[in-house]
Amino acid sequence: MHAELISNRHFGPYAHLTFSAPALARRAKPGQFVEIRLTGGNAPFWRRPFSICRAGSGRVEFLIKARGRGSQLLAQAAPKTMVDMVGPLGNGFTLAGKQPRLLVGGGYGIAPMLFLAQQLRAKNIPVEVFIGGRCGDDLLLRREMKLTGARVTCSTEDGSYGHTGRVTEPLEARLKQAKAPVRIAACGPHAMLKAVTRLAAHYRAEAEVSLEEVMACGLGVCNGCVVKIKGEYQRVCKDGPVFQAKDVDWHA
Ligand SMILES: Cc1cc2nc3c(=O)[nH]c(=O)nc-3n(C[C@H](O)[C@H](O)[C@H](O)COP(=O)(O)OP(=O)(O)OC[C@H]3O[C@@H](n4cnc5c(N)ncnc54)[C@H](O)[C@@H]3O)c2cc1C
Repeated sequence: MHAELISNRHFGPYAHLTFSAPALARRAKPGQFVEIRLTGGNAPFWRRPFSICRAGSGRVEFLIKARGRGSQLLAQAAPKTMVDMVGPLGNGFTLAGKQPRLLVGGGYGIAPMLFLAQQLRAKNIPVEVFIGGRCGDDLLLRREMKLTGARVTCSTEDGSYGHTGRVTEPLEARLKQAKAPVRIAACGPHAMLKAVTRLAAHYRAEAEVSLEEVMACGLGVCNGCVVKIKGEYQRVCKDGPVFQAKDVDWHA
């Protein structure tokens, strides 16, 4: 589908883009993603995958970190720019169940967590969000998260904002105190997801992780994004991007 860019707010290397895309907004679920590139021209050849950060009222939002050509072109786009989108793609996070949720986002991995927090809060499920980054500039969507009614804890590795250290440290402190079962959902760098998986196993919490592998077609055809899940190859684009953390073979 084609969609028009309505607004683009910049934060350092990050851009928060809002598109008018009513059909997509109606069907989107938290944890799903969309393949996007600018309309016209053919660079880059493949559309690039981005998590849906928020959807509703005919609009869909993304949080994009400018890295290579595809993400840079999108991050620099001006309002009224038209883009080509394929989506929503992938499975999404589990919304069923009333257990309190601990949402963990590292860097732009916080993007799908905003949509998830919003939908969980709409079902009256308690949500605590753990946002991590290298420095204060990497702590994204803090205000938007608080507006959902979630409790927000921030961590930076350089100590410039919130807890000094890794995002998994306050997460572990929270898991230690848990008197009732909680569920974790996480998205971010592999090392963070691995650490979340270890903590979830140790504290016997269910955990889902969203994997952001380098991806080409996004439609389950090219098999470029396979990961090992319970000893079998699975495609992040079609079978994921959300998997049970305990099923991921982190050493493959
Ligand atoms: C399901 C999914 C959801 C994603 N959601 C977001 C999001 O919400 N916001 C966001 O900013 N990015 C997200 N990404 C990552 C984003 O798709 C890549 O950063 C982007 O495709 C890079 O394309 P490029 O043309 O800018 O850079 P390229 O020139 O293709 O690559 C630039 C550098 O980025 C690395 N790279 C490429 N793809 C990835 C990736 N998937 N993960 C880590 N490194 C990568 C390359 O190896 C290279 O070093 C997501 C990826 C997936 C698979």
